Amino acid sequence: MTVHAVVDPGPDLKLGVDVDAVPPGAFLVGHAGEDSVLLAHLNDGFHAVSATCTHYGAHLGGGLLADNEIRCPCHHAAFDVRTGAALRAPAFRALKTWRTETRQGRGFVREEVRRAEPSRTPGRRHPRRVVIIGGGAAGYAAAERLHARGFDGELTIISADASAPYDRPNLSKGFLAGTAPREWIPLSDFAAYAQRGISLRLNRRVSAIDCGTRRVITDRGGHIPFDALLLATGAAPRRLAPLGGHGRVFLLRTLKDAERLISFVSDASNWSAVVVGSGFIGLEVAAALRHRGLDVQIVSRDAHPLGRQLGADAGRMLQRLHEAQGVRFHNGRAVEAYQGRALRLDDGTTLPADIVVVGVGVLPCSRLATEAGIATQNGILVDACLRTSVKGIYAAGDVACYPHRGEPIRVEHWVHAMRQGEVAADNMLGDERPFDAVPFFWTEQYGVELRASGWLGGWDACQSEGSIADRDLLVRYFRHGRPCGVLTVGRDRENLEFERESEKEGSHVTREPCSTSAPVTAG
Ligand code: NAP
Repeated sequence: MTVHAVVDPGPDLKLGVDVDAVPPGAFLVGHAGEDSVLLAHLNDGFHAVSATCTHYGAHLGGGLLADNEIRCPCHHAAFDVRTGAALRAPAFRALKTWRTETRQGRGFVREEVRRAEPSRTPGRRHPRRVVIIGGGAAGYAAAERLHARGFDGELTIISADASAPYDRPNLSKGFLAGTAPREWIPLSDFAAYAQRGISLRLNRRVSAIDCGTRRVITDRGGHIPFDALLLATGAAPRRLAPLGGHGRVFLLRTLKDAERLISFVSDASNWSAVVVGSGFIGLEVAAALRHRGLDVQIVSRDAHPLGRQLGADAGRMLQRLHEAQGVRFHNGRAVEAYQGRALRLDDGTTLPADIVVVGVGVLPCSRLATEAGIATQNGILVDACLRTSVKGIYAAGDVACYPHRGEPIRVEHWVHAMRQGEVAADNMLGDERPFDAVPFFWTEQYGVELRASGWLGGWDACQSEGSIADRDLLVRYFRHGRPCGVLTVGRDRENLEFERESEKEGSHVTREPCSTSAPVTAG
């Protein structure tokens, strides 16, 4: 997916800019020929990189320069300004770079420099055989990181999904709305896996993990040995018993789920849809179906959409955003039965419903781990380095319950899962890197992008400034009087700054030896 923002091209950097116009620690965006270029002034002089994020194509001009990194305002990817290297998810590809020169008080951007591949030293203690269970965000990012670090052993991804890793966040947004074409959805060319030496085994389930002989056993009876194993099994959608397995009731988790739903609604603009649940799936699906012209109602047991996560103020604003698009809400209600085209609620109301989409949360897929004797509790327990209770076995993503500032938490956000995959991969290669990324998510509804940084699982107070209607919102969340998160619309820089400050604060808490925070001993 590409974000096309209309941005002033700025000065021609080939003609140079006054050094004083870009003080140390600042950057300026201009152009070099057709390329939008970001010229940053670091302590060793000027550096020039492409101003277009390699994730969704967002413009980096609204980003934050911090510690020689430029951070994307949209989804908080980070790049090294000296080398262009992608430092963290959700971007994996480097930015283009240019040579710079300073002469007579002016900084110039010269010719593009094709960087040699970074030195690829996988580390001294790296395993020879790595198996990743799960082809979602965490599994994919771990494989990317292993490759980027020069891992040259056997790397196998086993995924129950029939499709190669794809951009799940898009499924309930542009892909369902019909604005994001199918070719945007894969995270990588299929051929690239083989080219990188990754054995991608799709449509295959792992039925057991033998921690003693260090093998995974697949449902087809195959035995795959490992030296290091990553459990990136994710989470599965909850089902609602009263709706049973009716053919017009949809869950939305996989690409196949999304394609099935799209095939139903592609010519159904006069249909009525009821969405059950007013969390992320509920709201994004409602917006996408409205875009297709369907009549949409939302049934939720909550008083406000996303109220538990974001609070009543933000919830009310989100509800108004949807109501302005014709969506009707039935808050504080439960569903009792679906008789095909009519959905009955617990107050006796009957809603017309050609289709019902259910988004009532997910449960971590930790059964395999439990059965293998790996410690689990609200997911798979890991220490700060994402190691499970069994040596050489790691967990990352929605399934991992990890220590965050002294408290075990499980985070169900895409970018966070990717970053855990990256850190698990680093640690497989012998690093001792605690996972201390600040949780981040974004959601997009009717073209309004909301972004949140911080852990919003335990806030006890919040303050709002501005509104979604004005596309200018900042909600600050607090826990025991201390800032713990922000939600913004149109305030990307403030969001990035909060993330940066939060990292500094968190690093005092998490940068302790990983082993001291291991949840349990080997089991
Ligand atoms: P979610 O965001 O956790 O929201 C679930 C909603 O369903 C909540 O409002 C919840 O209410 C409600 N609920 C739970 N059990 C229910 C029940 N038995 N009956 C009626 N309502 C019930 O989960 P989701 O929307 O299903 O999304 C699934 C996963 O995908 C989540 O992990 C989510 O983070 C992820 N996702 C993320 C994004 C994004 O970040 N933009 C987009 C799509 C999906 P309570 O609050 O009262 O429990």
